[in-house]
Amino acid sequence: MIKTKLPVIILRNMVLLPLGELKLEIENEEDKEIIYNAVNKHNGYCLLVTPKYITNDNLNTSDLPNMGVIGKITSNIVLPNEHIRINIRGINRADIYEYIQKENILDAIIGPIKIEDISEEENDACLRVIKKEFANYVNVMPNISNMIITKINEETSLEKVTDIIVNILPLSFQNKYLFLTTINPIVRGNYLIDLLVKEEKVERLEKNIETDLQKELDKSQKEFILREKLNVIKKELGDKDSKEEDIDEIRKKINNLDAPKNIIDRLNKEVNRFETIPFTSPEYTITKNYIDTLLSIPFGEYTLDEENLDSIKQVLDENHNGLEPIKERILEYISVKKLTNSLTSPIICLVGPPGVGKTSLAYSIAKALNRNFVKISVGGVSDENEITGHRKTYVGAMPGRIISSIIKSKSMNPLFLIDEIDKMGKGINGDPASAMLEVLDKEQNKTFSDNYIEEGIDLSNVMFVLTANNIEDIPYPLLDRLEIIELSSYTEFEKIDIVKNHLFDILLKEHGLTNSVTISESAIKYIISNYTKEAGVRELRRVLSTILRKIAKEQVNNQKKINITSKEVKKYLGKEKYNSINNEDHEAGVVNGLGYTPFGGVLLPIETDFYDGTGKIILTGSLGEVMKESASVALGYVKSNLKEFKINKKLLEENDLHINALEGATKKDGPSAGVTLTTAIISSLTGTKVSHKIAMTGEITLKGKVLKIGGLKEKVIGAYNNGVDTIFIPKTNENDLEEIPNEIKKKVNFILVDNYKDIYDKIFLGDK
Ligand code: ADP
Repeated sequence: MIKTKLPVIILRNMVLLPLGELKLEIENEEDKEIIYNAVNKHNGYCLLVTPKYITNDNLNTSDLPNMGVIGKITSNIVLPNEHIRINIRGINRADIYEYIQKENILDAIIGPIKIEDISEEENDACLRVIKKEFANYVNVMPNISNMIITKINEETSLEKVTDIIVNILPLSFQNKYLFLTTINPIVRGNYLIDLLVKEEKVERLEKNIETDLQKELDKSQKEFILREKLNVIKKELGDKDSKEEDIDEIRKKINNLDAPKNIIDRLNKEVNRFETIPFTSPEYTITKNYIDTLLSIPFGEYTLDEENLDSIKQVLDENHNGLEPIKERILEYISVKKLTNSLTSPIICLVGPPGVGKTSLAYSIAKALNRNFVKISVGGVSDENEITGHRKTYVGAMPGRIISSIIKSKSMNPLFLIDEIDKMGKGINGDPASAMLEVLDKEQNKTFSDNYIEEGIDLSNVMFVLTANNIEDIPYPLLDRLEIIELSSYTEFEKIDIVKNHLFDILLKEHGLTNSVTISESAIKYIISNYTKEAGVRELRRVLSTILRKIAKEQVNNQKKINITSKEVKKYLGKEKYNSINNEDHEAGVVNGLGYTPFGGVLLPIETDFYDGTGKIILTGSLGEVMKESASVALGYVKSNLKEFKINKKLLEENDLHINALEGATKKDGPSAGVTLTTAIISSLTGTKVSHKIAMTGEITLKGKVLKIGGLKEKVIGAYNNGVDTIFIPKTNENDLEEIPNEIKKKVNFILVDNYKDIYDKIFLGDK
């Protein structure tokens, strides 16, 4: 075996493969000495080794590999900076037997590399596949020189072919290292095949992307050239280009705009910028949209308020039946606002169950004041940005709903209705309630800042009106700034009045039936109790519309006068939806309580029964914690007065008492069912029936004292609409009776109670 000694050049993160070339620039003296040594003493031959890992600057011979590539220095030039530039060609892989370090020179004893025998067939098969894959690769890499392609095609040695190809592929250091150190040509060949296939795919993909890009570029270049040509042609013809026209138009609008200085300055700045933005830039549309949005804000546009209170009242009366105290308060509010022109006057919030006319009243106020009307609903809004807008950088950014609505309203002083303020979500993205505060607060809304607009906008002339179903759900800081005007449920009588005096005429007009259709009062009553169940009149309106639609259809070809009676109602609406309420006698143990839901007041009957058991109490019917406690208090009170209530003690000890609140789907809570629970327990245990026309409300203490409750008006209206004629209420609620409509006061007997004994005496001792 021929062994020889050659000077070693250590390559860092570089590989020289056989048949490859390497250019190096040598600057340090030790390396220069190696080069001189190779050139002068070894005919230019040297050994190039690449350590797999470079751990530090001072490599030990033990860190060096046991194979390298014999290289021949084909040129060496001393550069003006005294560096030496050399060109080395790789010749062959070689095994390294030993490294010899002598002073600064590192030599290695090397011999030819040992290659396992491979069969001719294996060699040829591998060679063929490589050449085929290489041909595919060349198809996507047209810049590979013909000389190399020919050389590869003519080469019959697998070893050489792999090395030639690997040398022209754009490989990472790791891949090159793998090829250098893989001695077996078949293994190396297989690596190469994989690599060629992969490279070809990557190249193809890159090509596709490039072609697509090129197409896009070509298109925009073409467009650009065409536009330029068009501009030249237009100039020749004395026309202007469309962007120029846009800019002229914008500048004209700015000049005519009656906007505050900050807005005019901002617009001018944006237009100047817009002028420099090329049509192809995404900034073009963003800036144009921004300018258009700013210009669409109705700066300087104000409607003149109607100041005559009589005319205002007239419009309110035209649109809404009754509601006198509410209309009065609205007029007061308007006069105070006018007199003081106050920036601090609170904001009206109309509170009440659905369908009682909150929205339509707000609309009516707008009409009466001669203000434009806009409405947004903030129910469920949990993202602050929905109110205050998204920044311009956000894709598809727009102003928030406040500014968008101002734009829609076409004036800077519209009546702006914000619906469902009590149903605003708790923010995941910021707090919509605090954004709302900024909108409503007179101190802050003089310069309301929308994230998209970025400039302060004066909202202080906007008249905000809010609506809510439930005061308790209005965020407190907001509530503090509001003037609450409560609209309560309508009584049956009020509903009939609304239909007779307002709704029916409006609906006749809408259906083109004016003068040909009338409706009897009993029919209205029949509809209210059998086809609707609501605090307001929305459902009633819908049902009447249905009837009129059907009549209109019948009358298309056959006009004749018609009076709607209950018979017609049944004919047009089909089966009754709700049974006439509360006309069945109660069994012992069932007593009417009163509830207050967002949909108005309701009757909440409590039923009590007992069965064999051990004195347990069972509570069902979606009761909240407070109501459960209230049931325990009621039972406690009954237990401590068994004698007086003529109840056998054993009955309670040997039975379980089951208390169930009817209307199981409605959640019930609060202490106000105390007296009802007590009465139901006594009624059940004594077997005494309580009339279905009696209802009661009041909290009870263990000693039987009856305490004040809330929402009396709604509860009473609910009870009255359900046919109740006697209502026990706490004495402490006496003042609330003032609010109860006279119609109800005339027909319902209110019994004020201080202690439960008052109820007991009336019900169980035969007063009632
Ligand atoms: P809300 O906003 O309280 O839910 P709406 O304002 O939508 O109620 O009222 C529902 C319908 O009932 C509207 O068509 C409205 O005109 C009518 N309405 C409610 N109250 C009255 C009333 N007092 N007089 C005349 N129409 C009324």
